Amino acid sequence: MAQYVYDFSHGRKDDRDLLGGKGANLAEMTALGLPVPPGFTITTEACRAYLATGSEPDGLADQVADHLAELERRRGQRLGDSTDPLLVSVRSGAKFSMPGMMDTVLNVGLTDTSVAGLAERAGDKRFAWDSYRRLIQMYGETVMGIEGRHFSEALDGLVAERAVASEVELGTDDLRGLVEQFKTIVGREAGEDFPQDPNRQLTMATRAVFDSWNTERARLYRRQERIPEDLGTAVNVVSMVFGNLGQDSGTGVAFTRDPATGEQGVYGDYLPNAQGEDVVAGIRNTLQLTELAELDRASYDQLLGIMATLERHYRDLCDIEFTIERGTLWMLQTRVGKRTAPAAFRIAGQLVDEGLISDDEALSRVTGAQLAQLMFPQFDPSAARTAIAKGMGASPGAAVGKAAFDSATAVQWSEQGEDVILVRRETSPDDLQGMVAARGVLTSRGGKTSHAAVVARGMGRTCVVGVDALRVDPQTHTFTTPGGDRVDEGDVISIDGGTGEVFLGSVPVVDSAVVDALPTAPEVDDARGGEDASAGGDTADDDVVASVLWIMRHADRTRRLGVRANADTADDARRARSLGAAGIGLCRTEHMFLGPRRKSVERVILARTDEQRQAGLDELRPLQREDFTDILEAMDGLPVTIRLLDPPLHEFLPDLTDLSVRVAVAEATGTEDAEASELLAEVRRLHEQNPMLGMRGVRLGVMVPGLFDLQVRAIAEATATLRQRGRDPRPEIMVPLVAAVQELEAIRDMADATVADIATEYGVDLTIPIGTMIELPRATMTAHQIAEAAEFFSFGTNDLTQTTWGFSRDDVEATFFPAYLERGVFGVSPFESIDAEGVGRLVSIAAWEGKETRPDLKVGVCGEHGGDPASIHFFESIRLDYVSCSPFRVPVARLEAGRAALTAGSDGGDSR
Ligand code: ADP
Ligand code: MG
Ligand code: MG
Repeated sequence: MAQYVYDFSHGRKDDRDLLGGKGANLAEMTALGLPVPPGFTITTEACRAYLATGSEPDGLADQVADHLAELERRRGQRLGDSTDPLLVSVRSGAKFSMPGMMDTVLNVGLTDTSVAGLAERAGDKRFAWDSYRRLIQMYGETVMGIEGRHFSEALDGLVAERAVASEVELGTDDLRGLVEQFKTIVGREAGEDFPQDPNRQLTMATRAVFDSWNTERARLYRRQERIPEDLGTAVNVVSMVFGNLGQDSGTGVAFTRDPATGEQGVYGDYLPNAQGEDVVAGIRNTLQLTELAELDRASYDQLLGIMATLERHYRDLCDIEFTIERGTLWMLQTRVGKRTAPAAFRIAGQLVDEGLISDDEALSRVTGAQLAQLMFPQFDPSAARTAIAKGMGASPGAAVGKAAFDSATAVQWSEQGEDVILVRRETSPDDLQGMVAARGVLTSRGGKTSHAAVVARGMGRTCVVGVDALRVDPQTHTFTTPGGDRVDEGDVISIDGGTGEVFLGSVPVVDSAVVDALPTAPEVDDARGGEDASAGGDTADDDVVASVLWIMRHADRTRRLGVRANADTADDARRARSLGAAGIGLCRTEHMFLGPRRKSVERVILARTDEQRQAGLDELRPLQREDFTDILEAMDGLPVTIRLLDPPLHEFLPDLTDLSVRVAVAEATGTEDAEASELLAEVRRLHEQNPMLGMRGVRLGVMVPGLFDLQVRAIAEATATLRQRGRDPRPEIMVPLVAAVQELEAIRDMADATVADIATEYGVDLTIPIGTMIELPRATMTAHQIAEAAEFFSFGTNDLTQTTWGFSRDDVEATFFPAYLERGVFGVSPFESIDAEGVGRLVSIAAWEGKETRPDLKVGVCGEHGGDPASIHFFESIRLDYVSCSPFRVPVARLEAGRAALTAGSDGGDSR
């Protein structure tokens, strides 16, 4: 029989699959000899079995009973005992942390009889009744599904009635009365009484935690964070320790470094005489952790010591939850903490300096997504603006948008294409959808560890919290400042997630410091720790930039994959080059036939005779030559893959409907429009039911040879001209949409002849590689043959995804993709991340077989997947030569290619 329950004294931090993150880390802290209240973990395996069948797997109940008995023996207490009751918390804890998404019930084991025992043992009646009312509320909400407002309204009502500042000032009799009220609420709302059997409480709370895996908000969070649906959660049963036993008790959360900036120091919040989530709920104002030093020096020193131990042990920033019970410190949770993008880069650099991690580890600790965030624009420092209020910057970035005061409005407006800032007093897990939809989140309460802060950081959403000065009124949907400023719903505001400032109106934004620094990055020594890095510049921003540059350099040293850019113009080419692109992987030529040149294209298409056609082509040729000269010059010395014309011809002709109208009007008014009629006939002739599958790409080249010849001629002339000027142009000609080698051969013969002509004409030696874009399944399946005629393959993974799945991207993404994602047909759109099992397999087979035919065949990717981190890791695993992506993604691709090389190295048998 499977072992479903483990004591904290078994298990280690690497057992997260089975014990969940919280359980594994509680076990780790126990093993380190830190003060963790004893308890045990019910495995994720038990949860999966329960969720699959709807009931506890065989043996689970007995194993829980055995471990509970052992716990009771160790504590010398019994669950629900009337004289000295053991109380436990029942806590969720999945493999990946999902802050605030799943449930926890505290004080399990309290009943009408054991509440007296607790009062007796603690010598504090008030505390016992306070704990009991908390249990009934939490149990009522999570296990019995009663809406929390019923309880909070009763509590608020009592606080108002007694005219006290907060619940802390309620007396014993008040709380006893409240318990009665709560019990009545339970009976009324759930149709059954609050259970007086402590074992039933434990069983039902465990089930509720299992079930909380599948709540709406948990699912949404997992989709957002790409956490698999089938992991399940573990359940931790922990003996209670009490922070609500008076002023010498309390509870807190802390980080070993500042998770917003990476700054070293003491960061955390502490709340005296409080239990559980009081501290993050933003209900009462918390103290700074440093203030604990004055309240309880011994516990404070012990805590700092433990934090240092944890950081050294985990070799990373950790966050912790702790409780002090009458001067005794207890550790309730730790994990490697979430952090903002700038903090991630900074901390990785610091830890290298401190000798805790290697260069490779530093690289593995930052992500392309984080780098992308640092490349976001920020508020223009020189723009005039006055902050109307200031809170704490909890998640960086510059966000501008209309103030929305509830989640539904935020979602609605963002669906209408508006930028929105979600404004709340504090957020709860129910605000998740609004936070996803918003550009930024602003709250008047809470600290850096509040729900809003933690979730926004995880999502990379700009967030400002704890703007105490703002009076947010959810009723009237307004907020006001002490200075008399007032913001109504729909007014535009700007928030700075770095400084915590709030501005009226829209503040102009500028490029990020990282983007400015990347192109000019000076060559420095390989090792970190030179003055430029460890001293870290003058400001936190300088330090972030220095860390980014250093890690980028290490990524470049480490990566095997080349990174090129998709660029169609000389400007884009220059930008891509400055961001580190090693050439152009895809230069599209469609745009070179639009605008005023459309007329010439029309002439070519409508030509009756060869002479007419040639006249049109001759108009285009010098213009094309200019285009290519500019781009090749910008990428001098680096390869430029130029794709011959791909889209169907009718895209260059006027719209069918417009023309029909024009002709109809002409006919009706009797004013003959010969040109329009002629065009219309041609447009009708070229009209296709499925243009995507019609006459385009190489098919066009075969059927209208003049066009491809024109392009090849222009490329060859541009190359020859630049050579004569002593430059080093390196064009590569790419033929799109090839399905059969014969198609490619036809174009190749033509192109080779043309290039040879130009070589003779200019008297230079010209060899221009010719290859193909692989974007049809048949091409992948005949790669052996196609490689006979191709010097390179570039996988056009956008079209290859469309043709492999039979999806028309523009049609399907908005219609049924959401449902497919919901049903788990795929976890992420195959247009966003490569579908490794299907499309990716075709790429892998084709690359392999192509290289069998031609060992020096170059293989790359030029679809949007070339800039997607997950896809880059896949392309590294099948050992392609390069990826190509939009210029702005180039740094992200360089970083991820470096990270991918690290993990690829460990695939080959190295167990890590
Ligand atoms: P979450 O995963 O949402 O943080 P937790 O399981 O960590 O939920 O618990 C919620 C709160 O209750 C936390 O503040 C935690 O420190 C506190 N808590 C949990 N177990 C105990 C316990 N045995 N004694 C005292 N406080 C506890
Ligand atoms: Mg917790
Ligand atoms: Mg294509």
